[in-house]
Amino acid sequence: MASVFVIEREEVESLGKKTRLTTLQLLASLVPQAKSKARPPVSNYRVGAVGLGASGRIFFGVNLEFPGLPLSQSVHAEQFLVANAALHGESALTHIAVSTTPCGHCRQFLQEIRSAPEISVLVTGDGDTDGSAHPDPGPDDFRRIAFFLPHRFGPRDLLHGDVPLLLENRNNRLAIASSAADSLPVEDRDLLHSALRAANRSHAPYSGCPSAVALRAKGGRVFAGSYIESAAHNPGLHPIQAALVAFVAGGGGGYEEIERAVLVERKGAVVAQEGVVRLVLASVAPTCSFSVVHCQPQISVDGDGDALNHN
Ligand SMILES: [Zn+2]
Repeated sequence: MASVFVIEREEVESLGKKTRLTTLQLLASLVPQAKSKARPPVSNYRVGAVGLGASGRIFFGVNLEFPGLPLSQSVHAEQFLVANAALHGESALTHIAVSTTPCGHCRQFLQEIRSAPEISVLVTGDGDTDGSAHPDPGPDDFRRIAFFLPHRFGPRDLLHGDVPLLLENRNNRLAIASSAADSLPVEDRDLLHSALRAANRSHAPYSGCPSAVALRAKGGRVFAGSYIESAAHNPGLHPIQAALVAFVAGGGGGYEEIERAVLVERKGAVVAQEGVVRLVLASVAPTCSFSVVHCQPQISVDGDGDALNHN
């Protein structure tokens, strides 16, 4: 699906030729464009982040704030960027250009990526409206995240080395009993499958409680986001926040366009999302109807990670 928040590799190459910019210069030049897409109605402080994936694709990230909710529900631009990359199956990020210095929360969030210390970051400056703050960055202007966060607390402090980290392939092997699926109207089946696929990609190694939310907007488009945990817990991204990232990145307009939401999570999960999802939806999309469908460890696996158990 085409998105203004993702630039495909071929387009990155053609933009480079057209503008005569190196890929890293192009990354920096796109920061004002990303920043213009931010939605911070509380602070009016816009942040734009642009990341280069190992695939050669470029991803945008912006900050989101939600009036009526605690500030802790805000999505930071770097979180948006990483969630957007994860949504599109990107395996790693190598460079990030961002309009302002990454905050402590984001430095910690980024540690969920195995190669985090090696990711190179360029701070373009916040006074730019036309990309002129850093007009000609070279590789030396990028600094590794290890520079921003030299003494790292992260996944390696809590997990075995072979546990998949953020952006790495995983299948949480969750399934939904057909009896649970039948609790939803037939027209919600696509929403349920999207939520289950996203739950199976959820990065929740600390709680063992993966989850995801799928949203359907007016016109029928579906947007799903996976819960992302952080070793330090608080910088994680709730599944409803991740789904709102998918909505914005996928070209969604006002949140009032969201008509239907489905959360998939394990029954009796120690870390449960239902209450937070209900709270956020009541504030950002009050007319949206909401259902929870409980999943369980999968009995039979299909290739797409979205099995419905027939029991
Ligand atoms: Zn931040």
